[in-house]
Amino acid sequence: MITKKGIDEIIRGYDVRKLTVCTLGSHSALQIAKGARDEGLANLLVCTKKNAAFYKDWPFVDEVLVVDSYKDVLSGKVQEKLRDRNAVIVPHGSFVEYVGAANILEGLDVPMLGSRIVLDWESDRKKQFKWLAEAGARLPREYKNPEDIDRLVIVKFPGARGGAGYFLAGDEKEYTRKMNSLDLPDGVKAGCMIQEYVVGTRFYPHFFYSPLDDSLQLLGMDIRYESNVDGLSRIPEAAGIEPSYVVTGNIPVVMRESLLPGLMDLGRNVVSASKKLFAPGMLGAFCLEMICTPELGFVCFEVSARIVAGTNAFINGSPYSSLLYDEPMSCGRRMCREIKEAAAKKRLSEVLY
Ligand code: AMP
Repeated sequence: MITKKGIDEIIRGYDVRKLTVCTLGSHSALQIAKGARDEGLANLLVCTKKNAAFYKDWPFVDEVLVVDSYKDVLSGKVQEKLRDRNAVIVPHGSFVEYVGAANILEGLDVPMLGSRIVLDWESDRKKQFKWLAEAGARLPREYKNPEDIDRLVIVKFPGARGGAGYFLAGDEKEYTRKMNSLDLPDGVKAGCMIQEYVVGTRFYPHFFYSPLDDSLQLLGMDIRYESNVDGLSRIPEAAGIEPSYVVTGNIPVVMRESLLPGLMDLGRNVVSASKKLFAPGMLGAFCLEMICTPELGFVCFEVSARIVAGTNAFINGSPYSSLLYDEPMSCGRRMCREIKEAAAKKRLSEVLY
């Protein structure tokens, strides 16, 4: 496992006038590559054979590196090539899912934008809840024992499975029947989390925290469009159809303005709590997954500690980013600007880990 000292040594060896922004060809790679181009940085996408042609076709993509599997980004040969390009890795959801938070910590010897340890915290639901609780966020009630279920609950499985397999249950009997009918390994079933199902409206705000000036920005906000649950309202008699929560798209949303001060306070508290729990804490892009109740309170059920796919709705900027910038500012571009500004101020080691 490379130390922070080791990363700093690699950065010292880099030609900072020729940095290359690198990520996997998936998830939010288009806005990251376009953001690099807009900020005057080179970009490189690591792609599998299957999707290389798709990414090569975009006029702002500088280079595509083809690998057999995404995990090959950890191979010595690929990493050497990336360091030769003065590469800075920008992790996104698919990067973390395909390469694995533990493998990134153990085997990625290329500087990465943002903290690595935070990826370990976001890939463990229990740690996420500890972090959000430390931030003073209201959380859905968690049930350790199915016999305690006294209201509608949502049962979730470990890993970023995209909501696959989740189910709802109103009591222990329903929980047991549905759990028994699921074709999942016992280990996965044992790692499930039983959460109170919170009824309200969902919001997924996109934040960016910069340690360079200790600032927190709200760059955008979306609602995930999930199948089949978001299709059930179109069927008058939907009873009997088990809802599923597989993300298939994202819808832009703005929040009632009177709720924004509270949202920013929550974002700041999440950053402060992260610094207390795992230094250097949350750096760069993150998203809170939350439900706003009819009493106008926020209940947080997850935190994503990197760029989320919902930012793809704002490649040309969002209502919030256009209040902050007089140019189109996607989350991908904001991350590239952070790299550019840190390089100009000779402060790369504060944002790369
Ligand atoms: P997650 O994997 O935690 O992002 O959850 C997938 C989806 O399930 C979310 O985007 C929500 O639509 C829904 N969901 C998750 N947790 C809750 C909850 N506690 N109450 C209501 N809906 C939830």
